[in-house]
Amino acid sequence: MAQNEEVSKNFYDEILPKLSGRKFSRPLYMVHEHNATRLHWDLRLEFDGVLESWALPKEPSLVKGVKRLAIHVEPHPLLYGLWEGTIPKGNYGAGTVKIWDTGTFDTLERSEKKIVVNIKGKKLKGQYVLIKISFVGSNDNWLFFKS
Ligand code: MN
Repeated sequence: MAQNEEVSKNFYDEILPKLSGRKFSRPLYMVHEHNATRLHWDLRLEFDGVLESWALPKEPSLVKGVKRLAIHVEPHPLLYGLWEGTIPKGNYGAGTVKIWDTGTFDTLERSEKKIVVNIKGKKLKGQYVLIKISFVGSNDNWLFFKS
C-alpha cells in the first residue's frame, strides 16, 4: 500500500503541471467514470481546497429519491478533478478515467454525517444529499441521492 501511494504521488506530480491554466468553476463538482478493477463512478466535491471523494458502484441517478451507495475514499488534489486518461498499471486505481460530469455546487448543509448540496452540473442538477449510513469493515458508507 505504501509503495502504491508513493507511485501514485509521483503520477499526480507529473499530471498536475499539465493541467495548469485550464478553466473551471469553483467550488469544483465532478464525477469521474473510472474503469478500474471494477467500473465505478467517483463523486468529487471541493471542500477545504481538496476534492472530497466518494466511490459509487452504480451510476449517479438523475431521479429524485433513487439512492446510490457512496463509499467515502481519500480526498484527491483539486486539479485531479479535471484530468481524464489512463492511470498506468502499477498505480493505485490503474485503468481509464473519464469525466462523466462537471460543474460547480453550493453547500446547503454540511456536518460529519450529512451533506446537502445544490449541484450545477451538465448531468446532475439540483439538490443532492449525502448521508452517512455505516462503517462496514474499512468502508465509510454513505448514500447519495437527489432530494
Ligand atoms: Mn476511482
